[in-house]
Amino acid sequence: MYHNIAPIEDDFLRGLDMTVSPDMFEDHVRYLTENFRVVSLRQMLSELRSGELPERTLVITFDDGYRDLYHYALPILHAYNLPATIFLNTSVIETTLKLWPNKIAYVSNKLGASRVASQARRHWGKGLHLGYGAGPSEIIWTLNEHCHIREIHDFIDALCADHHLTLPDEHPARIYLDWSEIAAMRAAGFEFGNHTHDHVNLALLSEQEQEAQIVKAKEIISQHLGLREMPFAYPFGQAVNFTGDTRRIIKQSGHNCALEAIAGPVFAEDSPYALKRIDIRETSPSLFVTNVHGVSIKRALSSMKNRRNPDRSSARLAALAGVFGSLVTWLATGI
Ligand SMILES: [Zn+2]
Repeated sequence: MYHNIAPIEDDFLRGLDMTVSPDMFEDHVRYLTENFRVVSLRQMLSELRSGELPERTLVITFDDGYRDLYHYALPILHAYNLPATIFLNTSVIETTLKLWPNKIAYVSNKLGASRVASQARRHWGKGLHLGYGAGPSEIIWTLNEHCHIREIHDFIDALCADHHLTLPDEHPARIYLDWSEIAAMRAAGFEFGNHTHDHVNLALLSEQEQEAQIVKAKEIISQHLGLREMPFAYPFGQAVNFTGDTRRIIKQSGHNCALEAIAGPVFAEDSPYALKRIDIRETSPSLFVTNVHGVSIKRALSSMKNRRNPDRSSARLAALAGVFGSLVTWLATGI
């Protein structure tokens, strides 16, 4: 799971630790080609369904649909002839609107994260446990867990008004893909999926609000790309970001799978609606190797343990130990 590939970061991304440089991404892609069987998400799903998912299979995904992917990820993946899937938030496509995590990065870069954090503590009161010295990622994760998206947008608007700052939505930068770039990437073999309309924590919404976020985005993508069925990725992707209702709505509204951001590999017997991923950031080459091999080490451990001992929970525990590196990355930050 990647987010953005770009040589520099603007105010909407700086401080979020979601951008990998093109040079490093090419190193990653070369390494993945040499050490894994990189397939499309579609192919992985059909192998998962048939129960024959080979070891060392790997799928590349990008969340949020950043425009830089067209300029920097597309040429590299094309050169290596590798498929990938991009998950889109439909409210921002073809506009200068911004997703709320990018708005938090913007106000943090303009005003300083400590000022944003202290205003957030004042806005939400004592219930919001936001440490002094919190950076933009920590602010985002705290708001993501506790605050409804409507309150977050109101907070950002009030903050900008107080400090005479241009509203992020009115800033002329377009930071996400538009439909012509999406079409060009699709022609080059990319797949696209649903990441909700507004990048919300679905677990904090009513059932009707969840349905609106999921179904509206699905319909917009279907309309533009002529797809009846598509993959889904939970925004933020942790256990606090979806409920039983979320999974039911996703299954019933024409999604063939749902990807989490909880760290881990995919096992052949996993539900297609609870697929784990490994969060890849701009890290040292050795941490990258540790992260991606967490997958195959875990798979190897799991299959060995399963053969000797049917207790899958111990296999999973042993497996989890093998992916320490990716957990470190995930704990450090992540969206
Ligand atoms: Zn996302």
